[in-house]
Amino acid sequence: MNITDKFSRKLRDVRISVTDRCNFRCSYCMPKDIYDSNYKFFKKTEILSFEEIIRLTKILADLGVKKVRLTGGEPLLRKNIHVLISHIKNIKGIADISMTTNGVLLSEKKAFLLKESGLNRLTVSLDSLDKGRFREISGSNYVPDDVLIGIENAKKAGFHNIKINMVVKKNVNNQDIIPMLENFYGSDCIVRFIEFMDVGNVNFWNKNEVISLENILSVISKKYNIKSLKKNYTSEVAKRWSFSGGEFGVISSISNPFCGDCSRIRLTAEGKLFTCLFAEKSHDIKSLIRSSKSDVEIKNYLTSMWSARDDRYSETRTTSVDSKIIKKAEMSYIGG
Ligand code: SAM
Ligand code: SF4
Ligand code: SF4
Repeated sequence: MNITDKFSRKLRDVRISVTDRCNFRCSYCMPKDIYDSNYKFFKKTEILSFEEIIRLTKILADLGVKKVRLTGGEPLLRKNIHVLISHIKNIKGIADISMTTNGVLLSEKKAFLLKESGLNRLTVSLDSLDKGRFREISGSNYVPDDVLIGIENAKKAGFHNIKINMVVKKNVNNQDIIPMLENFYGSDCIVRFIEFMDVGNVNFWNKNEVISLENILSVISKKYNIKSLKKNYTSEVAKRWSFSGGEFGVISSISNPFCGDCSRIRLTAEGKLFTCLFAEKSHDIKSLIRSSKSDVEIKNYLTSMWSARDDRYSETRTTSVDSKIIKKAEMSYIGG
């Protein structure tokens, strides 16, 4: 079944945040002074169980969803996440399951479990190879080697084409663009530079701190000949380039929005659905799932929700109300 929104966009992907907790405190996502020891994370009973996530994913698959991305918080903090993956893998219609992780919990054993359970693709976030900058940005005592070991473990387990997400911020890690590119050259990993986004309200986003697609290309093209590549599939979020036989990507939600073919819905750990990363309003699907509503009733609810969707925040952020005034969901909550 295909359902379409007000701009004829199909529902194709779901991003599922499996926990709001994280072992990092990235300054652009979970700043330490807010996510401190007093911060109230969800209790176990408040977050969706595996059974509830599976039930909802089945319904979403009936409505046309083909791709599932597991995220968080840090998804590898969710106990037995591989069990959830193996169930999602068996859902009719789901063709691809991926995960975004900060990588430090990717032990060899965990990586093999993820592979065996049917996880198709991995994205690992890494903002700098410099120990000091990494610690500063991640707000943790981990070092870049902890992430690099995780990536190696994933490769040993059979993951290919691992995406490496680097959020680039002006005067924070822009000097790491070339080192990151060169470090992963020829390594079966593809670095994707991400423009710092105004997700949520706690990261004090300021457009002057954004290193834009144009800035990134200008840095790289000073050293390498770069050539634009075609998208792999319609709703791909990263723009692709080749350089010296290698490849990199840029996710330019700020300077080059891609709302036109956005087919994504987002499910938070506590069971709220968002039709846009920047939406102010969410839909309380947990209450529906925990009520006596049947699958058909939930399906009808989701169909009307998607039919009413007219989100295109990234395309209107400069012309609409000041983004700081809108109360948006935080990245660690909504999952990116
Ligand atoms: N903890 C996992 C991780 O970091 O990979 C998964 C969740 S994290 C919210 C998902 C992705 O969002 C990461 O690649 C992270 O770098 C990115 N992200 C978080 N806050 C961001 C922001 N303000 N702008 C751009 N990307 C951001
Ligand atoms: Fe944690 Fe990922 Fe957010 Fe960093 S970006 S604080 S690793 S959820
Ligand atoms: Fe999709 Fe919203 Fe991002 Fe646009 S701003 S690409 S509609 S999530």
